[in-house]
Amino acid sequence: MSTFSTVIRPGILFIEGEFKGKFPFSNSLLIKGKKRTALIDAGTGIRVIQHYKDKIDVVVLTHLHPDHFSLSYLFEGKRVYIPAVESRYRRLEDLALRYVGEKLAPIWLRYVKETMMARDPYFTDTYEEGDVIDLGNVELQPIYTPGHSLGHHVILIGDKILHGADIDLTSFGPWYGHVESNIDKFLDSIKRVMQLDVEIYVSGHKRPVTGREEILSELERFAGKFKETEERILEALREPKSVEELVHMGIIYQKKPYARELLEYWEANMIMKHLDRLVKRGLVRTTTNGKYIAIKDL
Ligand SMILES: [Zn+2]
Repeated sequence: MSTFSTVIRPGILFIEGEFKGKFPFSNSLLIKGKKRTALIDAGTGIRVIQHYKDKIDVVVLTHLHPDHFSLSYLFEGKRVYIPAVESRYRRLEDLALRYVGEKLAPIWLRYVKETMMARDPYFTDTYEEGDVIDLGNVELQPIYTPGHSLGHHVILIGDKILHGADIDLTSFGPWYGHVESNIDKFLDSIKRVMQLDVEIYVSGHKRPVTGREEILSELERFAGKFKETEERILEALREPKSVEELVHMGIIYQKKPYARELLEYWEANMIMKHLDRLVKRGLVRTTTNGKYIAIKDL
């Protein structure tokens, strides 16, 4: 098997998902404790996960996005933890309604089943911040970091390694395309993560980052994406534009190569969240025909 994996500390293995762990897959971390072996997230793709499956006693899911939980059903009979705040979402259909609403639900369901091989999330246990999952000689501590989604957690492994999940440090930047996503909460969560004194940062979608300074500068750059996007929106709004016109400019997704309806929906949500903020700050106003126009620069 050619997929990349690397031992980042004795007993701790970084497992890169298919497609280099980029969406619609994600990276996992395997932690071999004295008593139990844990896997954080289960969206690496079937080929990768099959290779490690039998070694795992416990699975911890950072949040209920399908690129992170898609294959949890393969762990039936083992202990699988999800955030308590998401425990009422037991079926893919419930998640489809939560994330994209009735109209797009069939497209979302087809997409996650076909590209991620996702099935209903399987879980046996829930966690919340303050809980500790003990593997023997090492503890996993979830930290609640909402904004990306309602249930998003990062997981501290011991005290020097963090699985940052979708505070993922990718060049794409933060993703906040669902109605429940929240830019201010996302920024607060990034700040909170910056206060953790960790040496190794594991991203859900790119290779691990090592060293305190490097981690801080990557988090800073990642958080800065919100402002860059707002600058681009303001630039576009020198002439009045509707949300739809902004969406077609490709400000967030430069290309929409797959599941176009979903990408357009996510982009529209992200643009609308920025417009709300810009209107509140007096930088943008609405016009009489329902478009938006910039009043002044950032
Ligand atoms: Zn996510």
